[in-house]
Amino acid sequence: MNISSALSSVPDVEFRLDEPLARHTTFRVGGPVRLFARPRSEKALFALLEPIRELDIPFIVLGAGSNVLAPDGPWEMSVIQLHLACNGLLRSEQGADGQKVLYAGAGTKLQKLILYCMENGIEGLESLAGIPATVGGAIVMNASTSFGAISDSLVYADLLDADGQRRSIRRDQLTPGYRTMGIPESSIVLGACFKLRPRSNGMVKARVEQILKNRRRTQPLRFHSAGSIFKNPGGRSAGYLIEKAGLKGYRIGDAQVSRKHANWIVNRGDALARDIIELIEKIENEVYGTFGVRLEREIRILE
Ligand SMILES: Cc1cc2nc3c(=O)[nH]c(=O)nc-3n(C[C@H](O)[C@H](O)[C@H](O)COP(=O)(O)OP(=O)(O)OC[C@H]3O[C@@H](n4cnc5c(N)ncnc54)[C@H](O)[C@@H]3O)c2cc1C
Repeated sequence: MNISSALSSVPDVEFRLDEPLARHTTFRVGGPVRLFARPRSEKALFALLEPIRELDIPFIVLGAGSNVLAPDGPWEMSVIQLHLACNGLLRSEQGADGQKVLYAGAGTKLQKLILYCMENGIEGLESLAGIPATVGGAIVMNASTSFGAISDSLVYADLLDADGQRRSIRRDQLTPGYRTMGIPESSIVLGACFKLRPRSNGMVKARVEQILKNRRRTQPLRFHSAGSIFKNPGGRSAGYLIEKAGLKGYRIGDAQVSRKHANWIVNRGDALARDIIELIEKIENEVYGTFGVRLEREIRILE
């Protein structure tokens, strides 16, 4: 059975065949993928997984594609996005101190959640302003800045586990760390609940603006990228090591080590995944050769 006929019996799924992933990654890199699907509801997501498993095409869930490098392709893979299925935002109050409890679907843009907090005087997520993630991707990666991590305010996450069971997992059952939340392998994050604090709109807005201003000053936001490429090794700055290894501005094809922030690789126009991978390997070798430090990749290279 081919994909189109297998999916014709699944209602409420938008799908495209041979969709270039460059359209769905912040690097603007990635070739055609066999199946790209956006279920319109959680029920449609569950139904979609059945034919995908039957056809035996491996699948991944993609958030905003802001921490991945997708292959030049073509790629025998199904990619599922939850932008339509899990994009709700729910709010409730709790306790005498009026603590704010927010629930966000995994496909919700993190910036939409932060905007909501700004407009409604809710404090706790400002440190994540400017991270172009979905809530699901931010949970999986435990998105953070030097001011805080998303795990700081997480209460629980809802998952669809590898056995197809929907369940909640509490923060204390997870192992949040540097760019990881410890979400069990092969689980799909459906949504997450956060406990936050009341604060004046003006104060939340001022904090968000300060953080965004700092990003504009220090990060090469004019170009397509996936943010930092490497983790900071043992408290040292990866960007500093790359700069001191003489690689600022180093270029392979249209992939370039940013002159503004050496831990970022920017796409100067038509970079290919293979240019970026070659550049990543060059950086790893040079930094190891110069400092004896093995850099660990922060971005996920899809393969
Ligand atoms: C300009 C820029 C600035 C950035 N700044 C920061 C920063 O300050 N701090 C920081 O931590 N990161 C930063 N990043 C990196 C990136 O935004 C984060 O890692 C973010 O958490 C990734 O979210 P995403 O939705 O784009 O996930 P994706 O990149 O789409 O996916 C990341 C991983 O999570 C998995 N995944 C995504 N959604 C789900 C889901 N619902 N269920 C199961 N698995 C899922 C994917 O399969 C993949 O393995 C930046 C990136 C850019 C481009």
